[in-house]
Amino acid sequence: MRAHLQSIDQLPSLLAAQRSAFDQQGPVSAELRRGRIQQVIDLLVDHHQQLAEAMDADFGGRHPGFGLMNDVLGSLGSLKHARDHLEAWMPDEPRQVFAPYDQLGAQGWVQYQPKGSVGIIGTWNAPLFTLLSPLACALAAGNRAVLKPSEIVPRTAELLAQLIDQRFDPLELAIITGGVEVGQAFASQPFNHLVFTGSTEVGRDIMRRAAENLVPVTLELGGKSPVVIGQSADIAEAARRLAIAKGTNGGQICISPDRVFVPVAQREEFIRQLAEAFNGLYPGVSDNPDLVSVVNQRHLQRLDGYLAEVREMGVEVVQCPDVVFDAGSGKRPLSLVINPPLNSRIMREEIFGPALVVLSYSDIHHVVDEINQGERPLALYYFGTDQSEQDYVLGHTLSGGVSINDALMHAAMENAPFGGVGASGMGRYHGHEGFLEFSHVRTVFKAAAVDPRAEWGMLPPYHAGFTGVMQAQITR
Ligand code: NAD
Repeated sequence: MRAHLQSIDQLPSLLAAQRSAFDQQGPVSAELRRGRIQQVIDLLVDHHQQLAEAMDADFGGRHPGFGLMNDVLGSLGSLKHARDHLEAWMPDEPRQVFAPYDQLGAQGWVQYQPKGSVGIIGTWNAPLFTLLSPLACALAAGNRAVLKPSEIVPRTAELLAQLIDQRFDPLELAIITGGVEVGQAFASQPFNHLVFTGSTEVGRDIMRRAAENLVPVTLELGGKSPVVIGQSADIAEAARRLAIAKGTNGGQICISPDRVFVPVAQREEFIRQLAEAFNGLYPGVSDNPDLVSVVNQRHLQRLDGYLAEVREMGVEVVQCPDVVFDAGSGKRPLSLVINPPLNSRIMREEIFGPALVVLSYSDIHHVVDEINQGERPLALYYFGTDQSEQDYVLGHTLSGGVSINDALMHAAMENAPFGGVGASGMGRYHGHEGFLEFSHVRTVFKAAAVDPRAEWGMLPPYHAGFTGVMQAQITR
């Protein structure tokens, strides 16, 4: 069998073969784990240019330099961090045994074992990162893996499949390409862990399928990540940083700012500064190689539909830059949608593209209430220098992660977990927490040679005073 599976029908026998190799192998040494990770690093280093070009072509315009930064360097960061730290994460950890067995010489420890085979389903918006960043942690934990890239980026998926096929033993790493049906069949397999990155709606279906085989899941989903601009914020700087974040991947990032709450008195200034900052970064649209295209017609129609609806409702929309663009191409300016009504689609659905809702407020408590009325978001951003307000916002909300006085940044921390909560997902990867996510943590108790239970009157047939002895130990 090859590492690039030609049909989903091959997956059950591959998984059985991976399982058998896993069982025969026993402990997976640090050297072997590092070697597997290094092979992925080498693949990226040797083929980074081709991969960046494939992503550019799949998007119909995604600057290859951006592809290198987002997907190649992003994945390399996770892979190298895992390679360089896994040995420190692996050792058994001693645990104190309860009294009096500790006195008698009993021992306890926990063991971090690989789970077996990890299935990883990726998205189109970060086609390499959503596969290879979780893979770094799965391999660090000693697992084998099978990848399923998104069909919306077929050139990237095919190239990655070819490269994996050339370089990997399918018993260690395999890949299968395909669309929704392949994804459904993939999620129905008896993996030992399944990672899914994608929409909340599909995430529910993935979890249902995984439940059939009791497969534990890591769900990296999306949501409407809010930005809270406090009274104390430097409006120009907040606007500049949000312009940079919103331009990243054309807003097609799971943690992209989705709606901004800005004090009513600063609203006009904020919009002016955001437009100016965005126009400075992206002075043109259709012919601008730096502006990432909306990935396909379906998403273009979805985004254009949000804007058409709010315009029809009479909502103010500020286009940045305010230039004529070719609606036939995938490139779109950033649209700031000011105070749209709650029933508009842009207020209900994840934007995931070049648009941003701006909502003005006069009381920060109402902002927190509004955030809490929605699903738990993947990210939350706070801008300001007022420590007590920052504590209030962070203390009264839940989100996957937070950046303060910037956006997107927390997700780049390789040594801290990345994941959602509630509707934005469950589980996490990156760093030590990622290693733990893909490890089975096994408790081991090693008995002492002496067993005093009979001598202490702890065993049946119970003596007359046994209940009294038990009762005497019930304390507060
Ligand atoms: P999607 O849910 O449509 O697809 C994701 C993957 O699942 C693809 O590989 C696809 O082929 C497969 N798939 C689609 N339908 C399926 C089904 N019914 N059963 C099984 N597999 C199926 O998501 P997308 O459009 O590729 O990505 C955008 C979404 O992903 C957004 O909601 C975004 O917020 C989220 N996202 C989250 C993260 C994160 O780390 N939390 C990262 C990137 C994107």
